[in-house]
Parts: sequence; structure tokens; C-alpha cells
Amino acid sequence: MRRSAYFLPTLKETPSEAQIVSHRLMLRAGMIRQASAGIYSWLPLGFRVLKNIERIVREEQDAAGCQEILMPTIQSADLWKQSGRYEDYGKEMLRIEDRHGREMLYGPTNEELITDIFKSAVKSYRDLPKLLYHIQWKFRDEVRPRFGIMRGREFLMKDSYSFDLDYEGAKEAYNKMFVAYLRTFARMDLKAIPMEADTGPIGGNLSHEFIILADTGESEVYCNRDFVDFDVLGSDVEYRDVEGLATIVDHFTSLYACTDEKHDAAEFERRVPEDRRHVGRGIEVGHIFYFGDKYSAPLGAFVTKPDDSQVAVHMGSYGIGVSRLAGAIIEASHDAAGIVWPESIAPFKVGLINLKAGDADCTRVCEEIYGQLRGAGIEVLYDDSEERGGAKFAEMDLIGLPWQLVVGPRGIKQGVVELKQRRGGDRQELSSESALARLTA
Ligand code: ATP
Ligand code: MG
Repeated sequence: MRRSAYFLPTLKETPSEAQIVSHRLMLRAGMIRQASAGIYSWLPLGFRVLKNIERIVREEQDAAGCQEILMPTIQSADLWKQSGRYEDYGKEMLRIEDRHGREMLYGPTNEELITDIFKSAVKSYRDLPKLLYHIQWKFRDEVRPRFGIMRGREFLMKDSYSFDLDYEGAKEAYNKMFVAYLRTFARMDLKAIPMEADTGPIGGNLSHEFIILADTGESEVYCNRDFVDFDVLGSDVEYRDVEGLATIVDHFTSLYACTDEKHDAAEFERRVPEDRRHVGRGIEVGHIFYFGDKYSAPLGAFVTKPDDSQVAVHMGSYGIGVSRLAGAIIEASHDAAGIVWPESIAPFKVGLINLKAGDADCTRVCEEIYGQLRGAGIEVLYDDSEERGGAKFAEMDLIGLPWQLVVGPRGIKQGVVELKQRRGGDRQELSSESALARLTA
């Protein structure tokens, strides 16, 4: 993509309405634009990031055997009346009336709808287990939308739903999602810590929030530092390996990790040695929940068992805040100059800077490199604009692409270009062939 043609409305000044660094940087880097309170448009750079987050989430869900569907944003109120949540959800739910006076709503989540879909198709234990997910916009009329897309009113969520015959089956699905979540966040260079969460009034439930540590987080967290040392991507456990998954989940759940809601100071001190105690703040990026027959019973999702009796299916739901992650990743990875994208999320891998756009030699070398990088399938933002060098460097640092390749008249005379790594700032002068080899390796 050529910078001169790209729609990238970056800001030099820091927007005063933004309280936390990710919100400031997303606005300054031209990633998002507020449409109304808690509702945002995603501009080209931000949209690329959102798509990359979505891709990793999707790949890991698919690998875990979860099947993608797409449910609508607008739902009928009827199912919510059957589950009892039409009343319970309160003012966070956006209620809509259609032209015939029918009660509709903009979905804040999809348990009711998926249960209804399931029930219409599955009647027997032979069709279980099933794991389904979608990635869809949700609306919750939050009392205090804030921090940009981190606590929006309209936001993108990945929500999965599991259906099993009994608790043991449901626990296997839960473990699969638990490990899929660890892997998903690790692939974004995030350390997400599963924390025991409140399960509400129904006993026997199971729930974990996945929280990344960040000073600006909304939750207060207490945990064992051993979490940070576990390398889930290094463990090549497969999603079919029921025992292997259980071992990982048991390891994590044996360590103390709680938000303030569940925290118990005496237990924290008993279970975590003093030098391993971490107290700080965190951002919730995912939430998994086993809730048995909470929806299947009232909505009538029953299957026949081998002995011909009927049982309400055991369900779980598993959410990831896809749009919130864009902000969470920036909170976890930035410096004074701007964003520092992990390679897996970066909107482009390389920023190619032409230091002197009017110079024939600079332009020729840049055009060659640009063509070769694109030919090799590498995503590159080519700054071919007439701006001065300082402004180009500052903008590249701000938008945080992992690699910067700088072509200037002085280097060309010596037959070199400069390759800079955004993370850590290492710079190297090398021939354009070597630079290309490094970037395409
Ligand atoms: P929170 O406690 O932050 O309100 P929640 O418990 O209401 O979260 P879930 O219903 O479990 O959230 O939703 C799944 C995920 O969706 C959350 O883990 C979070 O990452 C994301 N999410 C929830 N609410 C918002 C929001 N208002 N804006 C952006 N993302 C959100
Ligand atoms: Mg909420």
C-alpha cells in the first residue's frame, strides 16, 4: 500500500478525551473514529488489526473442533422471555420495536438463540458433542462506555457454545476452550491468566476469566507469578488429547489467581509463597462458563439418552472480546513513540520509507524493493509521500509496524539501506538484497 494513497488520518496532537494510552494511540494512529458514545468506526489501519485478531481467534477455534456459524445481531424477544433474561438483563439491553409492534433486541450475547437452533436440529445423544461459534457484533448499553473500544457499547465478540450429554463431556469441551484461549492469547504475544470467576447463584458451575496484566486494567488481580513462566505454545498438546488438556487445565487451576470479586487474602497468603505473589490490575479479554441446563431446560433442548430417557443438554459458553483485544494488545505493547505491534497482529509487516521522494535514485530503489516485497507476499506500507524525514519516522514509530526499511540518498551512494526493528530499536545498514532476504526469510 502506498502511503500517498492510503486513508490514514494520523493525529499529531494527543486527543484530550482519551484517558488511557491505547485509546490515545488508536486515535492518533488513525485506527478508529468515534461515531457516538461507545460506538466506533474502524478505519483501514484499525480494520486490518481487527481482521488479524479475528483470524487468530478463528484458527484456534477451528483447530479445537469448533464450527463457525453466523447468527444475526437482531433477535426476537420471545426466546429471552422463555429463559427469563428479558427482564433480568435490565438497561444494558437495547430493546427495539419493529413496524408491527413486535419486540426485538440487539443481541448482547447469544445463549438463547443458539439453544433454539440446536434444539430444532438435535434430538439424540448420537449427535453429541457439538461446539459452535460465531464472531459477531454485540450491543450492550454500558452505563459508562470508556477507554475507546475497550469498553464500548457496540463491540465485536467471538462467542462459542458447547453441547454435551453430561458433566464429563461438558468438562472436556471446557478444557478444550481453556487451552484454545491460552494458545490464542499467546499467539498475540499476550500472557492471559485464567482467573476463577463468580458463577452466580447456580451451584456446580465453572467459570474462568482470562485477564492480561496491565496497569490501566479495570479489574484488580491477585495471582501467582508462576503463570507467567508457563509456555503453552511450546507444549504441543493436541485438542484430541483429552488427558493432556486436563493436565494443562489442572496445572493452571491449581495456582492461585483471582480478581477482587473472589479474592481471599488469607487463602492468597496460604497458597502463594511471598516472593511469588503478584498484585496488580488487569484487562479481561475472555470469559468461559459452564452452566449446565440453565438455558437448555427452559428452552426445551432435550436429547434422548441410550436408555431412551430424556435429558436437557449440558451447555457452556465461551467469549473473547475481539475488538477489546486491539486495545489490550496496545496496552501491553507500546513505548513513548507509539504502538509496537506483535508480528502476528501488525497491520503491515514492513514500513518502507523513501527519505527523498523527489530523488530519482531513491525512488527507483524503493520501487524495486516495494515490488519485490509484495511479490514475496509481504504486506508493506510504502511511504512515498513528500513529507520530511522526521515526520515519516515519527509516523512509522507511531503506527508500530515491526520493521522499517529506510532508503535515503546517502545510503544509496554506499549501496546500503537501513533496517530497523521497531521492538527494541535495533538498526542495521545492509544491502537491499540482504534486507529483502531478512524480511522474506
Ligand atoms: P465485563 O466484566 O468487562 O463487562 P463481561 O463479563 O460482561 O465483561 P462477557 O459477557 O463474558 O463479558 O463477554 C465476553 C468478552 O467480551 C469479555 O471477556 C470482554 O473481553 C468482552 N466485552 C464484554 N463487554 C465489552 C464491552 N462493553 N466492550 C468491549 N468488549 C467487551
Ligand atoms: Mg459486562
